[in-house]
Amino acid sequence: MACHHFEGLKKVPGAAASYAKGCEECVKIGGTWVHLRECLNCGHVGCCDSSPHRHATAHFHETKHPVMRSVEPGESWGYCYVDNVMVDLE
Ligand SMILES: [Zn+2]
Ligand SMILES: [Zn+2]
Ligand SMILES: [Zn+2]
Repeated sequence: MACHHFEGLKKVPGAAASYAKGCEECVKIGGTWVHLRECLNCGHVGCCDSSPHRHATAHFHETKHPVMRSVEPGESWGYCYVDNVMVDLE
């Protein structure tokens, strides 16, 4: 395992605040989502791959920001798109 994309990231606070924001793009278009993911590089909140629009993955393809985390209550994992690895952020 050779993912270094989590190194040097600031500890991102406030999962609850990000969760409350909802998926930015879905809110704009009146869409719905299943789970929320937050980009650890810029703080963008998007919806997961189980959601109809998959905005978190779309954000990665647009920006090449490689790492995100779950902001679901009680979840503390992160994921790197480039290396396809999940990490525990606790
Ligand atoms: Zn990585
Ligand atoms: Zn969305
Ligand atoms: Zn981003």
